[in-house]
Parts: sequence; structure tokens; C-alpha cells
Amino acid sequence: MRIDILTLFPEMCERVYSESILGRAIAAGKLEVHAKNIRDYTLDKHNRVDDTPYGGGMGMLMQAQPIYDCYRALCEELGEKPHVVYLSPQGSVLTQAKARELLRYDRLALLCGHYEGVDERVLETIVDEEISIGDYVLTGGELPALVLLDCIARMVDGVLPNEEAYAQESHYSGLLEHPQYTKPFEWNGMQTPEVLISGHHANIEKWKREQSLKRTFERRPDLLQTAELSENDRKYLTILQTQTESGDL
Ligand code: SAH
Repeated sequence: MRIDILTLFPEMCERVYSESILGRAIAAGKLEVHAKNIRDYTLDKHNRVDDTPYGGGMGMLMQAQPIYDCYRALCEELGEKPHVVYLSPQGSVLTQAKARELLRYDRLALLCGHYEGVDERVLETIVDEEISIGDYVLTGGELPALVLLDCIARMVDGVLPNEEAYAQESHYSGLLEHPQYTKPFEWNGMQTPEVLISGHHANIEKWKREQSLKRTFERRPDLLQTAELSENDRKYLTILQTQTESGDL
């Protein structure tokens, strides 16, 4: 998979994706990531890429031409049209399911706006979908693009040791993950739950599943509407519900 970030701040992006798990995955050739500088494509003699909005209003807008030419250069380099995502507070809010869906594209381009945003006409021309990382506004699309990149990249084959590494995590299965513990067994007077060192695989799995259901029930009950639940899960949730109603939880 190849992901290109179209941005006015390529170094900001490179600094993030060249570190840690993503950095190692890229070095090992598990995925390819590039940051293209939109400013390299401006035809303005002062290198400008923005101007004031028609109709008045605050701030500056990114102009269509540099973005379009940057996109065209990318298409030429790739020999095909990538799937283009514009990071925008007006897009549909990013979820794990959405990131998984994007894994099917071999070529993905992430367009970052800045200042007050981007001339609508270039969005209409090149963008396939808009994605937001939440209902708040940031100064630019770079952090959102990096959030999306990170979320997709860790599901690319070979980036994490195996699918289990992310399939059990919060949101992947539609539930929040159970609490986790590492050495030492006792820290600050608090012990690790005994079951986790019992060596009894079935009991450990049962504990993890119940903790995961309990967390989701307490913190994000909305997720239970869409999560895949077994007969046993439903029974356990009924117990939790009864305990809550009787004030025991
Ligand atoms: N005037 C625009 C906001 C511009 S914010 C509006 O009201 O809709 C500047 C840029 O930051 C945007 O072009 C977008 O690329 C990025 N951005 C800001 N908040 C974002 C969010 N929540 N999710 C994704 N991108 C965001």
C-alpha cells in the first residue's frame, strides 16, 4: 500500500511517520508513505498558495491551482488515480470500521487543508471522500492525516506482529478492550487479577471477554448496539444490567 500526504508542511508529517512502529514498517518496505509539498506546484511568482475568500470573511483560503497540479503530478507518478481523502471537520467522523474500509485501496492520497480551508472547486474535482477526526476544528489537516495514516498503517499486513495484535483492541471487535497488567505482579499495594497467572486458558479468555463487556457497558453502552455478541455475552450483560438496577455495580 502507498499513501501520499498532500500538504504545505511535509516535514511536520515526515517527522511523525519516520518514528517508531510506522518508521520501522516503512523502512522494512511494508508500506510506502510520502509527503508532497503543495507549495512546489504554485505558479505564483511569490510562491503563494492562498488568497482571501470571495464574499469577505476571516482568514485565507488555499487556492485550487497548486493543489490540482500537485494531485496531477501524483497521478502521473503513480500511473493511476489514487483514492483521495480530504481531511475536513465537515467529513464523516473517523471510525475503526472506516479505516479498515480504506485498507482496500492500494493508493491513497490524503489532502490537508490549512488556514480557513480550501477552494471548493478543487475539492469537487479531485476528492472522493471527506473524513473528520472529530467534532472540533484544528488549524490544519496534517494532524488528522497522521491520525488516519497511523490508524490504517497498523492494520497493514506485517506492520504489527500479527492480526491478533490489533484484532483484540478497543473498537476493532466493536467493544472496548479489557484492562491489562504487566510485571511486577504487585505494584503500589495493588495486585494483578489472579486469574491472569492461573495458566487456565479458558478462564483467562472468559475473564477478558467479561471485562471487555463490562468496560463497554459502563463507558460506551452505545457500542453494544452494533457489537457482535454471543448468547453468553448477552447473558452476562443481563447480569450487569440487573446489578446496575439494584445498585450493586
Ligand atoms: N473553515 C473550515 C475549517 C478550516 S480548518 C470549516 O469551518 O469547515 C483548516 C483545515 O484543517 C481544514 O481545511 C482541514 O483540512 C483541517 N481540519 C480542521 N479540523 C479538522 C477535523 N476535525 N478533522 C479533519 N480535518 C480538520
